[in-house]
Amino acid sequence: MSATPSIGVLGLQGDTAEHLAALGGLGVPGTPVTRPERLDDVQGLIIPGGESTTMAKLAVRYELMEPLRKHVAEGMPVYGTCAGMIMLADRVLDGIEDQQTIGGIDMTVRRNAFGRQTESFEANVRIEGAGEAPFDAVFIRAPWVESVGEDVRVLGRVTYGEKAGRIVAVRQGGLLATSFHPELTGDPRLHRLFVEMVKGQA
Ligand code: GLN
Repeated sequence: MSATPSIGVLGLQGDTAEHLAALGGLGVPGTPVTRPERLDDVQGLIIPGGESTTMAKLAVRYELMEPLRKHVAEGMPVYGTCAGMIMLADRVLDGIEDQQTIGGIDMTVRRNAFGRQTESFEANVRIEGAGEAPFDAVFIRAPWVESVGEDVRVLGRVTYGEKAGRIVAVRQGGLLATSFHPELTGDPRLHRLFVEMVKGQA
């Protein structure tokens, strides 16, 4: 793997620009991906927050869904935040009828679990492998992980309040997912972890 990998950010819908800025802050060239051929030019992919139902429909319309599944099956490292976490889930609760996902992580996520509409929720969450200090985690109509299969490592949970114990960060092989949005709070540690994963160093 090259010293500085090129990382794509799915650019169909959602906060693509914020992820590109977060990568840029780490000196990693990020490139928006809106066409299937672009997947061959990148060594890793970030799927941003946004709206998973819309993102999935656009992925089908732009003929990206199958290529995305193929790259995940072939081992491309992918990091999904919020709606991106839903896109990586094998199973979705409270989705729309026939909601499609890329899948790859053996988990069931519940959509809009932290509150519907404009509700958001903030908490300090420690993430295994991303330093001792907790993240200022911002959840915007966020999913949580309801259950995981045995190959999935839970990296973080909400630790206090009525949502205590809820799983909000997981990893399965080269696939990483968080319910919250580190790209919105200027904390580079999860992007750094993902870059190390892409380099095969984490
Ligand atoms: N509720 C959104 C969904 O279902 C996710 C929200 C977000 O990404 N901030 O996709």
